[in-house]
Amino acid sequence: MKRIGFIGLGLMGKPMALNLMKAGYKLCVYNRTRSKMEDLVAEGAIPTSSPKEVTEKSDIIITMVSDSPDVQEVVLGPLGVIEGCKKGKILIDMSTISPKTSKSISKKLMEKEVQMLDAPVSGGTIGAREGRLTIMVGGLKETFEKCLPIFKILGTRVVYMGGSGMGQATKLCNQVICAINIQSVCEGLLLGKKLNLNLEKLLEVVTGGAANSWMLTNLGPKMIIRNFQPGFKISHQIKDVRLALSTGAELELPLPCTALVQQFLRSVEAENMGDKGTQALIITMEKLAQTQILE
Ligand code: NAP
Repeated sequence: MKRIGFIGLGLMGKPMALNLMKAGYKLCVYNRTRSKMEDLVAEGAIPTSSPKEVTEKSDIIITMVSDSPDVQEVVLGPLGVIEGCKKGKILIDMSTISPKTSKSISKKLMEKEVQMLDAPVSGGTIGAREGRLTIMVGGLKETFEKCLPIFKILGTRVVYMGGSGMGQATKLCNQVICAINIQSVCEGLLLGKKLNLNLEKLLEVVTGGAANSWMLTNLGPKMIIRNFQPGFKISHQIKDVRLALSTGAELELPLPCTALVQQFLRSVEAENMGDKGTQALIITMEKLAQTQILE
């Protein structure tokens, strides 16, 4: 069985790493904040002190960090993955980052005959915990096929999208749809409140019809009970919308609704709520409406 190294044990990385261990893989782990390794070490994972060390001890390395500069740092920086790499190892980056950055990191690794897949995910922390993520993969098809057994532990829908960067390109589209979708959930709930509807009953009925979505099912109830704990952080949604809008600008593609949602998300962040879950968007919308949806 291949040895796996896992870098980035945040809200997503930790449950994903746990699922790989439950499936029988030996795991080496690295997290910048060392205390976040403790739970996995208690389950038998080997802690390391740098991405370089993880890489030296593994055949396949998975990164699940925040943004493009973070992947650059853990892969290409001092004591990064690239320093522990040798021919035949594979890097799978599952963070959501810019397709361009992903391609350029892949090129650098290729100089060492190391293949990289970009394999961002969708499905939230619940999908990560339950091994039910959707995984969109870019890179060499042959490398994808080698890694498929790993993807099948982490997710239920795994689709090969094409060459390097195509997984990240897919994820940008996913995030445009998600961002506008959560905005629509906020507006639907606020309208319901103004119409004196019981919002729990509203959710019960509309989640059974054409309006249903992952956002509505998973985040609608959290908005109503004011649970703003992060599954997916506002700051990460802002990052993804920024990536989509800058890509849209390069392509001269108008993305008007995405741009509007970006402004609302920024308002949430401006109130120091960047670490809250994306359902906190309702707080900004409530302020605009001068209405709280709280039952
Ligand atoms: P998170 O809880 O904030 O965790 C981020 C992880 O990245 C932490 O382990 C953090 O280390 C590490 N990290 C960040 N910058 C780093 C750097 N420069 N060097 C080393 N480590 C660094 O985020 P998350 O929710 O797990 O998300 C991870 C990625 O998955 C993001 O790209 C996000 O957009 C994507 N994603 C998230 C969800 C979701 O629902 N949460 C769903 C799909 C995709 P520290 O512990 O030291 O801070």
